[in-house]
Amino acid sequence: MALLLALTLPWAGLGMERCFSLDTVRADGLAEGVEEPKLIALTFDDGPRRSTTTDLLDGLARRGVHATFFLIGELVPGNEDVVQRMDREGHQIGIHTYDHVKLTGLNAADFSAQVDRTRNLLKETLGHNDFILRPPYGMTDNGVIKRAGSPIILWSIDPEDWNDKNVDRIVEHVVSRASDGDIILLHDIYPTSVEAALRIVDALHEKGFLFLTIDELCEERKVTPSSGEICRHFYP
Ligand SMILES: [Zn+2]
Repeated sequence: MALLLALTLPWAGLGMERCFSLDTVRADGLAEGVEEPKLIALTFDDGPRRSTTTDLLDGLARRGVHATFFLIGELVPGNEDVVQRMDREGHQIGIHTYDHVKLTGLNAADFSAQVDRTRNLLKETLGHNDFILRPPYGMTDNGVIKRAGSPIILWSIDPEDWNDKNVDRIVEHVVSRASDGDIILLHDIYPTSVEAALRIVDALHEKGFLFLTIDELCEERKVTPSSGEICRHFYP
């Protein structure tokens, strides 16, 4: 049965819609005989970095997997084609500030220089304006919640891939913990994280997981997070 997802983003107020077919994704990735897939989101922070992000996009495309990328604004100029490729290939894009600072404690002008500046840059690059927010270090306060302008997406599985860059350990950490509705945090600026991510995809496909973007996962779980709402997972 073809399950079509018509994604609307009420918080953006733009009425933008995109359609996805779960069957298309499933045919490319899931192990045969899996009836009811578990859903999971793979998210990447701190990019884009042309070399590693391109390798990751190639590997995700081969597997028919959509991920979500929280980008650093100052890394977009010169990498516009990489960001446009993410968008074109069905990945979701979010904001991770302009130059990776803590958003807590900022006044309105400084917050805007980090988040709105990046949002405007992405809007110019992609022609739409529906970008979710992930604050660096997952740090939030009332100011961040008030000014977010979108849902705030954190995570439920963090292997600290930046720490020892040990691919086997990163893969084991994620695969042994993964459950239906989790959000995985990785960083697409390290070759080791790209290798780990693709091994994680293959291992979790074997265990019956289906990889969705954050918006796709929200749609499947029938939740519509409001602006400033903090989401760490979308468990059933
Ligand atoms: Zn970060």
